[in-house]
Amino acid sequence: EVNIIWFRRDLRLTDNAALYHALKGELPVVPVFVFDTNILNELPAEDKRVTFIYQALEEMQQQLLEFGSSMEVYYDTPEGMFTALLTKYSVAHVFTNHDYEQYAIDRDAAIKELLKKQNAILHTYKDQVIFERSEVVKDDGTPYTVFTPYSRKWKAKLTEFYLSSYPSKKYYKQFYQQNPYGLPSLESMGFEQVEISFPAKQVKNALLEHYKDTRDFPGVKGTSHLGIHLRFGTISIRELARKAQGKSEVFLNELIWRDFYHMILAQFAHVRTGESFRQEYDRIPWRNNEKEFERWCNGQTGYPIVDAGMRELNTTGFMHNRVRMITASFLTKHLLIDWRWGEAYFAEKLLDYDYAANNGGWQWAAGSGCDAAPYFRVFNPTLQTERFDKDRSYIKKWVPELEGFEYPAPMVVHEDARKRALDTYGRVLKNN
Ligand code: FAD
Repeated sequence: EVNIIWFRRDLRLTDNAALYHALKGELPVVPVFVFDTNILNELPAEDKRVTFIYQALEEMQQQLLEFGSSMEVYYDTPEGMFTALLTKYSVAHVFTNHDYEQYAIDRDAAIKELLKKQNAILHTYKDQVIFERSEVVKDDGTPYTVFTPYSRKWKAKLTEFYLSSYPSKKYYKQFYQQNPYGLPSLESMGFEQVEISFPAKQVKNALLEHYKDTRDFPGVKGTSHLGIHLRFGTISIRELARKAQGKSEVFLNELIWRDFYHMILAQFAHVRTGESFRQEYDRIPWRNNEKEFERWCNGQTGYPIVDAGMRELNTTGFMHNRVRMITASFLTKHLLIDWRWGEAYFAEKLLDYDYAANNGGWQWAAGSGCDAAPYFRVFNPTLQTERFDKDRSYIKKWVPELEGFEYPAPMVVHEDARKRALDTYGRVLKNN
């Protein structure tokens, strides 16, 4: 008989809630991962994130080897993997961490049923966030829909307990002893190995010290670039929050935003299935001009700050937060294109893509999300540039032809576009 630890977006052996609980049991623990064909079939061969996951698994595999164990890595559907595992082993318990997305909720429910038929039990844990679901709610038990009061309650509830690490190391002898498994090759799964150096798995103290002053300026490296590590769990949110505590309240606040959007996803089913958080916004008659969308995607809008952002994204898989807000506002307000188009484009390109934060960010920009501000905030790209890229260092990096004569004229005039956006939104929302 064995227990199973099923890794998903928690690709690490330290401070991992489900792993800790698995290792504390009586039975040997078999580590498993599945390259889920339901997900992979939708991705292009050059998707950088698949290489990232692959490297993370190789690292875990090395560590497991030291303890005489090995991870079984499948290329299959989750159902396919568990059917194989249940044939191979007598499985008592499966341990895994919570995932708040709709696909994951459905998947986990199906696996739970499948396991039950063989008398195996699925156990799930909070691991990805500090507070989940209904842990931070209003006094009357209903969920917060605005960030600031949520963050206040979050901070009030925080004790050392919530930030302490799960001490798994001393239980590593519980890992099932077996000969090393090889991973299926990237090529065999239809992917290319991408030559890219991923962001470091750490944040320097110096960055945290200056974070509040530098984080808003895309021309300097003032943010951590840890998004991808948080997305795939190659670092622990508890360790990171502990590190931020006392060093940078502003950085900690960003981690609270992350919790906030995961909470929204967990609490509001219609957000998980792609509807506007404020459902009346789904009546907006988007223009959805495909040619204009293409110009936005390719960084050819004629607004240098917007184009710089899109080109940074297309080239590196990263875009600075300030510029994410500017490009998203431009798409939804200036071009009146459905925020879901932009959401999907970011989902394809961002290394740190995460449904909760991406959806939250897009709906914030479109005005349809969790925000106290009314819809008539329309970012002015020129003023944003004056404030946040005054010396044009960011723009010059990504739009070098600005110095010559090849650069396109603005595709819309700001004042006209602003008026059109307010009219269009206003017609639908005035009475709300
Ligand atoms: P840092 O500034 O160093 O922050 C540290 C961490 O805090 C981030 O890695 C992230 O996990 C979290 N964080 C920071 N800001 C936010 C925020 N506003 N909301 C939620 N979490 C936050 N973030 C994603 O992780 N994935 C996405 O797919 C994503 N899409 C976005 C789309 C739009 C339109 C907007 C406006 C924002 C989006 N964000 C997303 C939030 C934010 O832009 C990124 O988290 C941040 O830019 C990542 O860079 P960093 O790791 O250097 O962040």
